Amino acid sequence: MTIGFDIERARRETRAAEALIHFNNAGASLMPIPVSEAVHAYLRREEMMGGYEAAAAEVVAIENFYVQAGRLLNCEPAEIAFVDSASRAWTMAFYSFQFEPGDRILTTWSEYGSNVIAYNQQKERYGVETVFVPDDEQGQVDVAALRGMVDERVKLISMTHIPTGGGTVNPLAAVGAVAKEAGIPFLVDSCQGVGQIMVDVEALGCDILCGTGRKYLRGPRGTGLLYVRQSLVEKLEPPMLDLRSATLLAATAYEVRGDAKRFEMWEQYLAGKVGLGVAIEYALSYGMEAIQARIYQLAAALRAVLAGVPRVVVMDEGAELCGIVTFRVDGWTSEAIQAELGGRGVNVSVSSGSGSLVAFQKRGVEALVRASVHYYNTEAEVVRFGELLAEIVG
Ligand SMILES: *Cc1c(COP(=O)(O)O)cnc(C)c1O
Repeated sequence: MTIGFDIERARRETRAAEALIHFNNAGASLMPIPVSEAVHAYLRREEMMGGYEAAAAEVVAIENFYVQAGRLLNCEPAEIAFVDSASRAWTMAFYSFQFEPGDRILTTWSEYGSNVIAYNQQKERYGVETVFVPDDEQGQVDVAALRGMVDERVKLISMTHIPTGGGTVNPLAAVGAVAKEAGIPFLVDSCQGVGQIMVDVEALGCDILCGTGRKYLRGPRGTGLLYVRQSLVEKLEPPMLDLRSATLLAATAYEVRGDAKRFEMWEQYLAGKVGLGVAIEYALSYGMEAIQARIYQLAAALRAVLAGVPRVVVMDEGAELCGIVTFRVDGWTSEAIQAELGGRGVNVSVSSGSGSLVAFQKRGVEALVRASVHYYNTEAEVVRFGELLAEIVG
């Protein structure tokens, strides 16, 4: 079943692979050994040389982040910014748009809660209207409906690729084609997509895309990345500037950088930046196609196992389902299930609260257990997960 994927290597290079069943890769995955070693080694250099001196000595390792991110997303390194999270990436780009009263943003019901907070804030400030494009009967964004909603008021199409609280993969390449035809900027929150599935900014037809280090990329916490298409970079002036994103020319004059680093700030978590570069390179050494195929296969196996556990209801919707598996258990709260599994060495998370609020209110759901698998997980872990859950729910 795992032909073509070096699962032995993946497990050997994951220190906790045998100690845990870690099905919380959508929360924070486990760093592979080469990533954690790179972060530790960089911190040691800072300790032994001084932070500025280490940065000067490690220019190649630091710049490697942009090179690898460009390879991963099929873009130029100059179109990439290093930031501290997906939310930072997203907000730096989003708050660069100059909205006016009556402007519209088109988004999805599965949009990430933080982004919806930002839409509401812009509504209060500038009278920007956010319109939720309906889902189709399968539970993913309805592209035909979107096409009928595009008009001159729409200033941005902004959508989440894979929602935080469900297995859906929204058909965003089709959305990108609509956006391109209409000449509307297209912003993609691919926080759960980057590192999990093939994300190619040309294939998606997006202009802006954000990702985070700690989730499916298996990088360190406190790292994230932003892609901005070069043709848009110079049109988007970041909401705040410093002396990395801009240059002070005189006491009264400044110039903003011409590449995506205009969305960065001078001070950065450089050990994390080096580590994220290594994490991307590590993912690419398996290949994103192979990673995606293995994750989909494991998740499908997990859904099949869960279907056989009494009182468990799998809740994922959509034509294409990814490695995020959400379910509820009749008679149990999701928190109680998480705690019971945790006590048995199994990590899952609970999707609830702001992150999934819009989608969950529409679906009449409050909280779901989220079991998110990665390529280093195994079929045996999936089977064991089902056994433990059956034991818990009796
Ligand atoms: C986790 C998540 C985010 C936020 O990522 P941070 O790195 O924590 O800022 C954004 N969007 C989606 C869909 C997520 O799942």
